Parts: sequence; C-alpha cells; structure tokens
Amino acid sequence: MEFKLTPEQKDFQELARQFARQEIEPIAAQIDEDSIIPSGLNEKLAGAGFVGMLIPKQYGGTETGMLRYVLAFEELNYPVCQCLEALGNNIVGRAIALTGNEEQKQRYLPPLAQGSVMGSYAFTEPATGSDRKALVTTARLDGDHWVLNGIKRFHSGGHLAGPGIIFANVDGTNTTAFLVDKLGAGYRSSKPFELMMGRGLETVDTRFENVRVPGNNVLGTVGGGYEILFSITAEGRLSLSSIAVALAQAAFDESALFLKERLASNREDASLQTTKHVLADMLTRIVPARVTAYRIAWLTDMGEDTRMTSAIIKLFSSTMAREVADMAMDIHGLSGLVKGSKIERIYRQAKQFDLTEGSSEVQRTIVAGSVLMQ
Ligand SMILES: Cc1cc2nc3c(=O)[nH]c(=O)nc-3n(C[C@H](O)[C@H](O)[C@H](O)COP(=O)(O)OP(=O)(O)OC[C@H]3O[C@@H](n4cnc5c(N)ncnc54)[C@H](O)[C@@H]3O)c2cc1C
Repeated sequence: MEFKLTPEQKDFQELARQFARQEIEPIAAQIDEDSIIPSGLNEKLAGAGFVGMLIPKQYGGTETGMLRYVLAFEELNYPVCQCLEALGNNIVGRAIALTGNEEQKQRYLPPLAQGSVMGSYAFTEPATGSDRKALVTTARLDGDHWVLNGIKRFHSGGHLAGPGIIFANVDGTNTTAFLVDKLGAGYRSSKPFELMMGRGLETVDTRFENVRVPGNNVLGTVGGGYEILFSITAEGRLSLSSIAVALAQAAFDESALFLKERLASNREDASLQTTKHVLADMLTRIVPARVTAYRIAWLTDMGEDTRMTSAIIKLFSSTMAREVADMAMDIHGLSGLVKGSKIERIYRQAKQFDLTEGSSEVQRTIVAGSVLMQ
C-alpha cells in the first residue's frame, strides 16, 4: 500500500477543508444552538461534488472511491456540526449502485447525487436496533405491489422526501430491503427526537400503515436484506470513524491552542509536565485511528471485504473519541463546560459513536464472530 496520498487525493482533501472552513465553520455553533440547517447548505455540498462521492459518474455522481470519501468526510466534520444530512445520500446511493437493478439506478441515483432528495435507511425499531431477529416490520405481496406495516425508530432523515431503504420481513423471517418513496400514503413521521449530541441532523420515528410499494422496488432479492444491511453499515461504520477522528482532532487542536495561550501567559498549570503529556496521549490515539480508517477505505477501493475491519475501526475510534474528548475537557477545565463552546459540543457528540451504526457490543460480536468462523 502507498502511504503517501496522491496529488488527486490531496487536492480533494484540500477542497473539502476549504469548503468546511468557508461554509460550515462559521455556522456550526448557530446550528447547534437553534437546531436548524440553513437552506442552501445541501445544494452547496452537492455543487461541490460531496453528495455523490459514492455514486457512479454515469448516474451523475463524482465516483471518488472510498478513500477520497473518507478524506473529505473527515475534513467536512472538523467544524463539529451535525448538519451534513445530504452526505447520507452517499451510503444510500452506494447501496443502490451495488445492488439495485438498472431501472432503480436510473430513477434514484441522479436525484441523490444532486442532493435534490434525501436518501435514508431504516432497520432499527422500538424493540431493537441490535437484535436482527427481533425485527417486526412486515411486507406482504398484494397483486403487483408490496404492502408494508410497522414502525421504524431513529430513522435519520426519515421525514425528508426521497428514497428510503426500509428493512421488513416477508413471510415471517425473509428480511428484505425495499426502496420506499417516503412521505407517500400511509407513511407517517414523528417530530424529530431532541438528542443530546445532534442538533441539526434530525432523527424521527416513521410509521408504515399499509404503505404500498411497487413490486419492482425490492432492492436486491427477497430474503437478501441482511447482505445489503451489512454493506450499508460497513460503510456507515467507516464514515462514523472518520467523524470520530475529525472530532478528536478538533478537540486536540483546541486543547493545544488553549495550552499554548496559557504557556504564553506563564500559567503555572500549563507548564505542568502532566498537562502537556495529555496532548501526547490524545495524539497517540488519534493518529492510529486515522491511519487505520484510511487503510480500510483503501482496502474497500481494492474490492476487499472490509465488514470485519470496519467493525474494528468503529469500535476503536468510538473509544478513542470519547477518551480524547474527556482529556480535552480536563485541559479546558470550567471553560470546557460552557454550553455551545466547541469542547462542550465535542464532548456531547463523542458518545454517539458507541451507539449509532450498531453499538460497540455489536461490533465486538461481529469481530469475534468473524474470527471464530475462520
Ligand atoms: C443519531 C442516531 C441516528 C440513527 N440513525 C439511524 C438510521 O438512520 N437508521 C437506523 O436503522 N437506525 C438508526 N439509529 C439507531 C442505531 O443504529 C441504534 O440505536 C443502535 O443500533 C443501537 O440500537 P438500540 O438503540 O435499539 O439499542 P438496543 O439494541 O436496544 O441495545 C441496548 C443496549 O444493549 C446492548 N446490547 C444489545 N444486544 C446486545 C448483545 N447481543 N450483546 C451485548 N450487548 C447488547 C447494546 O449494545 C446497547 O448498549 C440511529 C441512532 C442514533 C443515536
């Protein structure tokens, strides 16, 4: 593996860095304050080519590959802002590009790449997000349509118009992925959850009451839903790992700046060896997480099966982000507790990685399961 980024990769990383500085950093704190994503941000993200990174060029995407996607994702999340809902179109688009039929690709990929619709996926239900055998949403064939009934919980973007990949059971246990045009008849969404960390990105409950879905909207095959869920969550885990690295890097940079300012004003505590060593401990966690995420992204681009390794990096980077956020809070002392400060925002957001895209326990089950199957 070539460890040096190519000029194209560096240019794309720099493009994302400049976009984050100019378009996201100035509004990050306000979005966290009033939980509103300003209109136009999704269009700007799409205009810069970030919404279709994992969508093939022939369907209007930028087809960057996973490594450039991860490089951009890290830079775009550095301002610590839960406002990049349009980037979710990448994961949904990739699932349709990899498992959809030609009609589905022609129909759904161009609007997803343009950011004119919001893609989403929904597996989690009120009873569980971890135990796949506990899924109770059903789908039954009625003539040339499927009829879906059930409730989905924590459905990110479930209230926004566009294609949703909805997991439901056919004939009891055949878990199947359906492409559902959200907001149609029988489709209801709750008001967004007030979540501790994410203000901006909205997550809702969605209720399916005899939602009719055209017969041709099965994604992949009937009973083949888990293969699609595994590939969606494998990429989701890599995305979350790069967000975790971005947040931890932001916590480190804020802490280094804070200590430098204190050292400059000869603050005794800042010169304490122990305080300085915390910076080393933070970086000793961030760098391995970043390099590993890049390697798994590169392996994905090489066509390798990265479902187990993406669980490893998700587990590692979840713990890393929480520990680094904690260290940053310690360095900042009281000023870190000020509501809306960058460190406070980071601290609140750092816990999400233990739960979203499959909890840390589930990652351990995936890794141990893969090892014992070998
Ligand atoms: C901001 C946010 C956005 C989300 N977006 C989406 C989305 O778009 N689509 C979607 O489908 N879901 C989404 N989720 C849901 C998320 O994927 C689930 O929360 C996650 O999978 C955990 O499921 P749960 O919350 O139902 O916990 P449960 O499954 O009820 O588990 C509760 C606790 O028990 C532990 N546990 C469960 N089973 C085991 C086991 N076998 N061994 C050991 N411990 C176990 C878990 O680790 C967890 O700590 C989102 C969640 C959040 C917070």
